[in-house]
Amino acid sequence: MINNRFENYLISEREEKFQRIYYEINQLYIDNNYKLDPMELIHYALAEDINIIIKDTSNKIIYNSNTRRSMGMMGGMHHGHMGHMGYMHRPEGKYIEKEYPLTFEGDLIGTLIIGYIDNAYLTESAMIFKGTLFRSFILSGFVTILIGLIFSIVISNRLTQPLVSIKDTANAIKAGNLQVDSEVKTDVKEIIELSEAIGFLGNTLAEQEDIRKRYASDISHELRTPLTTLRTHLEAIIDGVWEPTREHLQILMEEIQRLSNLVDNLRDSFTETEYSIKLNKERFNISKELEAIITAYVPIYEKKGFTILGSIEPNIEVYMDKDKFKQIINNLLSNSLRYLEDEGQVFVDLKENNRKITIKVKDNGIGIKDKDLPHIFNRFYRVDTSRQKSTGGSGLGLSIVKSMVEAHGGYIYVESQYGKGTEFTLNFPLKQT
Ligand code: ADP
Repeated sequence: MINNRFENYLISEREEKFQRIYYEINQLYIDNNYKLDPMELIHYALAEDINIIIKDTSNKIIYNSNTRRSMGMMGGMHHGHMGHMGYMHRPEGKYIEKEYPLTFEGDLIGTLIIGYIDNAYLTESAMIFKGTLFRSFILSGFVTILIGLIFSIVISNRLTQPLVSIKDTANAIKAGNLQVDSEVKTDVKEIIELSEAIGFLGNTLAEQEDIRKRYASDISHELRTPLTTLRTHLEAIIDGVWEPTREHLQILMEEIQRLSNLVDNLRDSFTETEYSIKLNKERFNISKELEAIITAYVPIYEKKGFTILGSIEPNIEVYMDKDKFKQIINNLLSNSLRYLEDEGQVFVDLKENNRKITIKVKDNGIGIKDKDLPHIFNRFYRVDTSRQKSTGGSGLGLSIVKSMVEAHGGYIYVESQYGKGTEFTLNFPLKQT
């Protein structure tokens, strides 16, 4: 490209020069009454490195600057002249003649012929200039590549350094060190996000680890209590210090019942998070179903001197998992039963409104303190552990209820006043698909 542009430039320069010469000779020819000094013409031609021929109107050559040497010699001279340029060897040029009409006031008075070697514009200085230009370009190319290389090394270092540190963090997490610091020094957004994601992963794993440990200790604790009771009672019977009366066996039976309830709850709490609950939906009359559950609870409540009442809007059809629905209500009702006091009362309400089903379970039991209220749906959360022995809760019931309600696209919330009572409200969308 450099060659091309440069030669084009030189060629246009030459054209300009020829135009100038043509104008000058034309002027000179007129001024000197169509006569020119041949020596002067030769010098002029030599100086401009061209051959000048002038013909008169009858096409006869009247001047020719090339009297003593042939243009072939001219080309040869150039060749030898440039020989030392080595790598920029000038190719042998062709001899070319250009004709220009000499005119005076619009009349033709002769013809000027300018002969030249077509690469004569490649003078030594032009060649040197071109060579220098070429070398400069090569050099700047190298410099550019070098700078690019340095930049890419610096940038790739800046990219790999934090990546290496993230890799170390990931390896540390892999090795079980979950409390690692995932922060990296970089201003690359993606790397910061990656590092944050790794940190989040570590934290989540640490949390899960924590939950697992708490879970395990809670489970073993929960299982130990009824087992110890059973064992001590059975030992007392074996030792003969405790009569195996019907009443005593009833106590053991209750303990076993509690144990099996706990095991059931545990199984549910493991498998049924809101993400993994598998619903077995069917169409059924929820009003009838709720009525039946309440009826079944009446004797249990009455036995303890409590009452259970229902206000059920009849014939509401739903498309839900019937077993899960029963379990939700059972969990809520058995909770109420546990936390009722003298003259305890539970009120169950079912309504359909705005294509929504609302179920309320309201009791006048011991209530829940404000500080506990936000936590009662958490796994293993029990309000007062010392009291729990007598109520026999596991802290799993409400967390199971919540995940089952949410699996149906519904939601549950609680209102409670400590010492006055508690009200759970469930909302389900009516149209379940
Ligand atoms: P638990 O098996 O201990 O009852 P839950 O998850 O069912 O576990 O309930 C969590 C806690 O919420 C209970 O320990 C209890 O203190 C409180 N709670 C639940 N229902 C009621 C209620 N109807 N009245 C008072 N407190 C309740």
